[in-house]
Amino acid sequence: TLTISDFDPALWEAMTREHQRQEDHVELIASENYASPMVMAAQGSVLTNKYAEGYPGKRYYGGCEYVDVAEQLAIDRALQIFGAEHANVQPHSGSQANQAVYLSVLKPGDKIMGMSLAHGGHLTHGAKVNVSGKLFEVAAYGVRAEDGRIDYDAMAEQAERERPKMIVAGASAYSRIIDFARIGEIARSIGAYLLVDMAHIAGLVAVGLHPSPVPHADFVTTTTHKTLRGPRGGLILCREEYAKKVNSLIFPGLQGGPLMHVIAAKAVAFLEALQPEFKGYQQQVIHNAQSLSKVLAARGYSAVSGGTDNHLFLLNLGEKVTGKEAEEALGLANITVNKNAVPFDTRPPAVTSGIRIGTPAATTRGFGEAEMHLLGNGIADVLDGGGDAAIVARVKAEMLELCRRFPVYG
Ligand code: PLP
Repeated sequence: TLTISDFDPALWEAMTREHQRQEDHVELIASENYASPMVMAAQGSVLTNKYAEGYPGKRYYGGCEYVDVAEQLAIDRALQIFGAEHANVQPHSGSQANQAVYLSVLKPGDKIMGMSLAHGGHLTHGAKVNVSGKLFEVAAYGVRAEDGRIDYDAMAEQAERERPKMIVAGASAYSRIIDFARIGEIARSIGAYLLVDMAHIAGLVAVGLHPSPVPHADFVTTTTHKTLRGPRGGLILCREEYAKKVNSLIFPGLQGGPLMHVIAAKAVAFLEALQPEFKGYQQQVIHNAQSLSKVLAARGYSAVSGGTDNHLFLLNLGEKVTGKEAEEALGLANITVNKNAVPFDTRPPAVTSGIRIGTPAATTRGFGEAEMHLLGNGIADVLDGGGDAAIVARVKAEMLELCRRFPVYG
């Protein structure tokens, strides 16, 4: 049989180099992780060949008896992990999961209230450039200037004033526990729906290390590839009363055939999340984020809000260096981060005054406390060095050594 390397050497080279990059770089992008070989095996399986429009037992194609089993396993496991009434495992992405929820109960022109992108929210929570900001009127909430935390009293007042039809909670760059119970009260007090997008923290929620939004929200969405460590994709959880609407918005509303290979990979990832070791992993993710933020704080690089309760933090670089410069300099030292606006940032989004740092991927490869010290000091050395090539080279050598000691896929 023909291999990619024989048939398509140009692509194969890009693939092998990407594999090597993942092995040789310390991955600190908070939304990334390394899926297990079993997850990848499911994704790279013959299930990719199957059309299965519809839902288990109600398909528009023949031959779905086995993919029905795969999808039902994914659904049952998602429900078991998160304790929800209904699960739809078909969303191709987190963005599509959110779109489906919006369109299941809202009409264009309705008002939503989501966390501002500039303060840590996600594009799909009403940003102007996203369809959520084009279809809906948006009232954005943010964090307090003094401590970088969500001000729930201000949020309640704003909700009362703005009367949105839906409140969207959840974030892409917020390092503190989110009080879903309080936000649920706020939503109920004005008769608004509550959507919680727990994409970033789903793995923590799965094991009880972040309070669950499920009892408080009408809808919960997530991606499956971040802390949850599954394949790229989305998931919607909701109460039974919205099940039909959500299902028909995903198919036929927004999507056609579900990606059965990805759904099978979600089933594998959910079973992994149900293993006792998964809790230990998530505990280490949080512990690592806290250790790393402390090392950096001791070196003069403070996190927005002063620390973290979860898997990530935003480093406020102040005047020393821009986010863009920091991302580039750290990249040269084999440390991958993304530049990220800090709340009330005065620099443009393509430059920013911050970087976002997350520990899910580094923890998957086995990094612990000792590695966080090496890493934190390496990051601070590179940032202090202002691009000094000798410092970058020394830190790069240290990072390569660390990566060799903790191979991702062996
Ligand atoms: N929701 C949140 C909170 C996210 O952080 C992200 C991705 O970064 C998404 C949704 C979107 O997920 P996807 O990239 O799968 O569309």
